[in-house]
Amino acid sequence: MLSAIEKLLKFMRLEVDRGYDNRAVVGGLNKVLPWWEPEARASGMDAGLLERVVEQLNAYPGYSLEDRAACLNDLLNELEAALPAETERRTATPPRPRPVDSDAQSAPSERSRRPVVEREPGAPIGLDAPVTVLPGVGPKYAQTMKQLGLNTLADLLYYFPRRYDDYSQLKTINRLEYGEELTIIATVQSVATRPLRGGQSSMIEAVVSDGTGSIRVTWFNQPWIANRLNRNDQIAISGKVDMYLGRLVMNSPDWEPIEQNSLNTNRIVPVYPLTAHVTQKWLRRLMYDTVTYWAARITDYLPEDIRRAVDLPPLGPALVQAHFPDSMERLRAARARLAFDEILLLQLGVLQQKSNWQSVAARVFETPDAWLDAQVQRLPYPLTGAQQRALAHVRADLSSGRPMNRLLQGDVGSGKTVIAALGAAMVTRAGAQAAIMAPTSILAEQHYRNLTRMLTEPGDNDNAALKPEEIRLLVGDTPEAEKAEIRAGLEEGNIKLIIGTHALIEAPISFNQLEFVVIDEQHRFGVAQRAALRVKGQTPHLLVMTATPIPRSLALTLYGDLDLTVMDEMPAGRQPVETHVLHPLERERAYQLIRTQVQQGRQAFIIYPLIEKGDKEESKAAVDEHERLQSVIFPRLKLGLLHGRMRPDEKEQVMARFRDGEFQILVSTTVVEVGVDVPNATVMLIEGANRFGLAQLHQLRGRVGRGGDQAYCLLIPENENAIENERLAVMAETNDGFVLAERDLDQRGPGDFLGTRQAGFAQLRMASLTDVRLIEKAREQAMKINDRDPDLSAPENAALRRTLQRFWNPGKGDIS
Ligand code: ADP
Ligand code: MG
Repeated sequence: MLSAIEKLLKFMRLEVDRGYDNRAVVGGLNKVLPWWEPEARASGMDAGLLERVVEQLNAYPGYSLEDRAACLNDLLNELEAALPAETERRTATPPRPRPVDSDAQSAPSERSRRPVVEREPGAPIGLDAPVTVLPGVGPKYAQTMKQLGLNTLADLLYYFPRRYDDYSQLKTINRLEYGEELTIIATVQSVATRPLRGGQSSMIEAVVSDGTGSIRVTWFNQPWIANRLNRNDQIAISGKVDMYLGRLVMNSPDWEPIEQNSLNTNRIVPVYPLTAHVTQKWLRRLMYDTVTYWAARITDYLPEDIRRAVDLPPLGPALVQAHFPDSMERLRAARARLAFDEILLLQLGVLQQKSNWQSVAARVFETPDAWLDAQVQRLPYPLTGAQQRALAHVRADLSSGRPMNRLLQGDVGSGKTVIAALGAAMVTRAGAQAAIMAPTSILAEQHYRNLTRMLTEPGDNDNAALKPEEIRLLVGDTPEAEKAEIRAGLEEGNIKLIIGTHALIEAPISFNQLEFVVIDEQHRFGVAQRAALRVKGQTPHLLVMTATPIPRSLALTLYGDLDLTVMDEMPAGRQPVETHVLHPLERERAYQLIRTQVQQGRQAFIIYPLIEKGDKEESKAAVDEHERLQSVIFPRLKLGLLHGRMRPDEKEQVMARFRDGEFQILVSTTVVEVGVDVPNATVMLIEGANRFGLAQLHQLRGRVGRGGDQAYCLLIPENENAIENERLAVMAETNDGFVLAERDLDQRGPGDFLGTRQAGFAQLRMASLTDVRLIEKAREQAMKINDRDPDLSAPENAALRRTLQRFWNPGKGDIS
C-alpha cells in the first residue's frame, strides 16, 4: 500500500512531467483533496505540512506556470523530506512495482524511482535481505520463489532470463529465413497429435499464421502441449527456423501464450524460468522493480582500473541491461561483463587456494634410487616414458617440503594406477600412511587387488613394499566389525595404505599420520570431497588423477590451483580401438562380431543407457535386454548383468565372474564406465549411443583394447537422426581423448563430464567455459589483483572480497 504522501507525490511528479498543465488529475490537481486530506490526516501526517498542501493545491489552478513550478517543487521537497520518517514506521519498502509494459515507453524518471530507504553507500548488506522485503511478496510467494532458488534480493538480481523476446524487431512469417533464430507472434490455426513408431512416441503438429503467412510447428514427445494449445490462441514462438521437405518449419520451439501488454512494450522483454504458481508477468514486474531500484544502488566491486582495462560496463547498468536490455548490443556488453566477473571470481579463488596451499610446509620424503628401481623392476612391464616422467614429478613433489597438489591426467588405459601405487609406496616406506579414494566400489576393489599384487607379492629378492595386512579396502558395505577393525588399524598406524570409496570420508576415520592422498577419476568428486579427505591428514601430499582430457580453458580455470602432469603416451603394443557407428538395423552384425570374438576366447561388454524400461522413450533397458540377449541371441553363452541398483557385493561378484572369464558377455549400464580393467575384453557395444557425451563414450571405449589384441567399439544410436550420428562419427575418426573432449565441451558444455556443478563455487550463469578469450582476459586481471593484494585486505578491495566470499560459499550468506 502506498502511503498518502507517496500517492500525492505520484500525482505531483506526473504534473511536473507534463509541464504544469494542471491535467495530471482530471479536473485539476486540487481534485485529489477530497479523498486525500482525510487519508493523510488518518496517517498521522504533520498537521502544518498538511495545511500547506491543502492551501497550495487549492490555489494551484490560478497560478502562472512559473508559480506552479515553484509551488510544486517546494511541496515535493517538503513531502519527500517527510517520507523517511514515515517509512521508518513501516518496513523498508522499495518503490511500488512499476509495470514494465505500460511504463517502459516513457521510462520512469530518475526522480520517481527515488529510493525510499537510503542505504549506507557501498554496504551490500541490503542485497542479503530476504525477498519478503519487497512489496507484494509475502511468505507464500517467498516459499514459491524459494523453489526457484530466490531467497534474497541478490538472488533476484542474478536470476537471469532464459531468453528474451525482441518485440522491438518482430518478424512476420512471410519474411522468415531458413536458419534464423527468432520469435514470432501468431495465431494457432490447427493442432493435431500424431502417434509415432507404433504409439511409443508422439508428435504434435500445429499450423500457425499471422496474416502474412503460415508455418508448421512441431513438438516431439510432449503430448501435454496438445491440451494447452487451442485453435485461435495467440502465442509467441521462439526458436530456429528449419526446413522440412522444402518448406520452412519450426521444430520443438519454446512457446507461450502472449500477454497483450508485453506486445505493446515495443522493446526487448525478458522471459524467466518459472515454477508453478508464479506467472511470467508477475515475476517480470517484480524483477523490473527490484532490478531498476537496487541495481542503481549496487557497489561495483571491481577496482576502477580493472574495469577500464577490460572495457566493460559498470555492474549496476550491466545488471539492468541483462534483465531489461535497451538493445541487443547493450545486452551483449552486459552479459560479457557478468561473465567476466564470474570467471574473475573463479580465478581469484583458485589463485588464493593455490597460495594458501603452497604457504604451508609438508613432510619431506626422499626416495633412494635403488629402492625405487627395485620396485619398478617388480612390475610385469617396463614403464612408458610418460609414466617415468609422471613418477619423477611425484617423487620430486614428495621431497619438496611443500604439499604436492598435482593433477595427473592421462587418457584411459595410459597406466595411471601404477603411478599412484608407487607414490603411495614412497610414503609408506618412510612409515607414513597413504589413502586412495575411487568413485565406485568396483573400482576401489580393483585398485585394492592390483595394488596388493604390485606392492606386497614377494619378488625375486623379497623387496615387497608392504605386507598384505598393511593394505586394506574400505567401501560402503564393508561389514561393521571389519570397519571398526580398519579404523583401529588406521588410528594406530598398522594399516599403511587404505583404498576405498566415499566411505573413507563418511565414516569417522582418523589416521595416525596420513601424508599422501590420491583421488582417482577426480572429476567424479567435488572440491569439498577432495578437501574432506585431505583434512584427515595435516598437510598431506595430494595427487588427483583423471582420464578426462582437460581443454586448456578448463585447465586454466577449474584446475588453476593444481600442477599438471599429462601422460600422453600409451603402453606399447596398444592398437587404437576400431570404432564403428552402426544403424539400428545392423545390430545383427554387431552380435556376429561378438560371437566371433568370444569363439577366440575374448569377452564383450554390451552397454545400455537406462536400468529399466520406463516411460522415458525407447531406451533399451539393461535388465530386459539381458534376458532377451541370453535367451534369444546368445543362448549358448553366459551373460552377466550389472547395473547401479544392485547391491555393491552383488556388483563385485558379477565383476569378479566376468574378470575370471565365467561370463563371456557383460550386459551393463554405465557403472562400468569408470576405470574398470578387464584386458581380455575386446568388444564394447553401446546401445542408445546418442544419449552419451563423447567424453563418456570415450571412457566406455577405454574399457576395451587394454590387452594387446585388436579391439572394437560399436555404437548403435536409437534412431537414424543424421545430426546425432554425425556427432557420433567423431568417435570413429579419432581415439584421441583431447579431440573428443574439446568437441564435447563445444557441444554440451562442461557440466556433463567435469562435474562443475558440484565444484564448490556458485553456478556459472553467464560465463561459458569454452570462451578461452574471456577466460584469459579474466585470468590476466585476476593475477594482477592477486599480485597487488593477495588477501584483498586493501580498503578498495573490500567489496570484492565480500563478493568473492559469497561466490565461493553459495547459499551461505555473507561471512565477513
Ligand atoms: P588408467 O590410466 O586408465 O587408470 P590403468 O592404470 O588401469 O589405466 O592401466 C591400464 C592397463 O594397462 C592395466 O591393465 C595396466 O596393468 C596396464 N599397464 C599400465 N602400465 C603399463 C605399461 N607401462 N606397459 C604395459 N601395460 C601397462
Ligand atoms: Mg584408472
